[in-house]
Amino acid sequence: MNTIKLKSPDEIEAMYRANQVVAEALMAMADIVKPGLTTAELDEVARKVLEKHGARSAFLNYPHSNGGQAFPATVCTSVNEIIVHGVPSRDTVLKNGDILSMDFGAVVDGWVGDSALTVPVGDVSEDARRLLETGRECLSAAIDQARDGRRLGDLSNAVQRLAESHGFGVVTEFVGHGIGRSMHEPPPIPNVGMPGTGQRIKVGMVLAIEPMINAGTPAVVTEADGWTARTRDRKLSAHFEHSVAVTPEGPRILSARPRWNQRASPRETRS
Ligand code: MG
Ligand code: MG
Repeated sequence: MNTIKLKSPDEIEAMYRANQVVAEALMAMADIVKPGLTTAELDEVARKVLEKHGARSAFLNYPHSNGGQAFPATVCTSVNEIIVHGVPSRDTVLKNGDILSMDFGAVVDGWVGDSALTVPVGDVSEDARRLLETGRECLSAAIDQARDGRRLGDLSNAVQRLAESHGFGVVTEFVGHGIGRSMHEPPPIPNVGMPGTGQRIKVGMVLAIEPMINAGTPAVVTEADGWTARTRDRKLSAHFEHSVAVTPEGPRILSARPRWNQRASPRETRS
């Protein structure tokens, strides 16, 4: 079925609750990121947040699309040249100067929340900082297009135009998606596209918008574990995602991170 399921205001509230568990887990993980931490420790933190809320992981045991091993963790931890779907491990120790993408999903009362961000580990290079900044801006620009009457191509193009104007490559193998009672619902949301093309955006749509941008070319290689996707040229990659409801008042970021937005700290800029 290709039909997009529009959500009622009550359903959007329920999705907000699921996404706020996601936001809390991402903040709890990001708060402890430092050189020497393993990505397995991040998975433990995320599991505790799920437990506290009686929520279920949307990622753990997620089936592999080609019949490979199901996803073995609650969070995707993707370091440096890993674009998405990195698997947490006791052997992956964060180092000063790394960048780390954390992608997390939770199910609350049958509704799925999905959000991701990329953070610096310690002091990162100016190039890495610029990639992260541009990734955040790409997500904001795309969210701003999530308005009744616009088209998906407007949203895709906002990401592509901004990323390419900085000389970055936009990943096309992976895309954003509608979200609701399933993590991946129609429509697919590419990060490249032409303005004025594609499906018309309507009130009641909930969209997981997730630009993935590379410091080098857009080319992707999947590692032998069947999950880990990295840049072919092994240059850095950044990933940012929010679940966004299209409302009569405009886009509403269901996975917004209130604690960071309230305090005047550098973290604020991570949202
Ligand atoms: Mg995600
Ligand atoms: Mg997603």
